[in-house]
Amino acid sequence: MRNLWMLIMLITLAACQSRRFDIIAHRGLPRLYPEHTLKGLQEALKFNVDYVEPDVVLTKDNIPVVLHDTHIDTTTDVKKRFPKRVRKDGRFYAIDFTIKEIKSLKANHRIDLKSGKPAIATRVPVKNSPYSVPTLEEFIHVVHQYNLEKGTNTGIYIEIKAPAFHKDSGKDITAIVHNILEKAYEADPTTPIIVQCFDDAPLKRLRKEGSPFKLVQLIAENSWGESRIDYNAMRTKAGLKEVATYADGVGPWIPMLVRPGKEKKMVSNDFVNWAHNAGLLVHPYTLRNDQLPPFVKNEKEALDFLIKELDVDGIFTDNVNTTVKLLD
Ligand code: CA
Repeated sequence: MRNLWMLIMLITLAACQSRRFDIIAHRGLPRLYPEHTLKGLQEALKFNVDYVEPDVVLTKDNIPVVLHDTHIDTTTDVKKRFPKRVRKDGRFYAIDFTIKEIKSLKANHRIDLKSGKPAIATRVPVKNSPYSVPTLEEFIHVVHQYNLEKGTNTGIYIEIKAPAFHKDSGKDITAIVHNILEKAYEADPTTPIIVQCFDDAPLKRLRKEGSPFKLVQLIAENSWGESRIDYNAMRTKAGLKEVATYADGVGPWIPMLVRPGKEKKMVSNDFVNWAHNAGLLVHPYTLRNDQLPPFVKNEKEALDFLIKELDVDGIFTDNVNTTVKLLD
């Protein structure tokens, strides 16, 4: 009898120690509210997610703002407001505008530059947008306030965007952003912070400088031109071992984790095993209920696949409203 109780205790302990599954609100709640607006952030927080994600670039006067791209012509009305500030390549860049100018813009759902129409047709349209581009500090303030008020500890999963591009413009985005994160951490150490980047240079530097935050290496396809990294080499057993020398986790694209199995079914390839064996968390991107992986029928199946077949540690999702409900 005593042995049986010991066994039950051991099984319970093992279950408690099993890996948890993090829900990361990708760019807020972009299915319903323009990406990276404070409104989208506030609505995402209400679903009690584990992390909210700001992507960050710098303004001309070195203020980190929450934007996915270095250019601002697909997500704001900059073209209409400042038509003369276009660069030779026909684009408008956040780095050419002061924070005051950026703040005067309206943030919209992403548009397709050529057609001027919504880039993703399934998003709930916003007429006469009341939304603006938040600074990183404003974003952090909203998260801290929410956590304090609700007694939660939703974390901030920040992405440093285009560090090499910023460096070429004489700006050290890593130092500027990390300085703000350190102050945020000082003000509220109970709000977890993770720093992610497609470029390994900022992560290696932060590790070397003793950053207190978890670091996540994002993994792209080489063809996307995200950085000078050879991501194919990174996606091997040896490559992931090397990542583990400076990062705590990896953020791969979902299709990087699968291979065809029997009866035309997709199955897990070796990626997640290699990463876990190297001690890395795996947080793939991005679950979208309006654009699911072709091998699943609905979002529930997608989540089952991510958890049971792939055994990943969490997911970046565009629709926390449905993801959280399905997991509950
Ligand atoms: Ca991101």
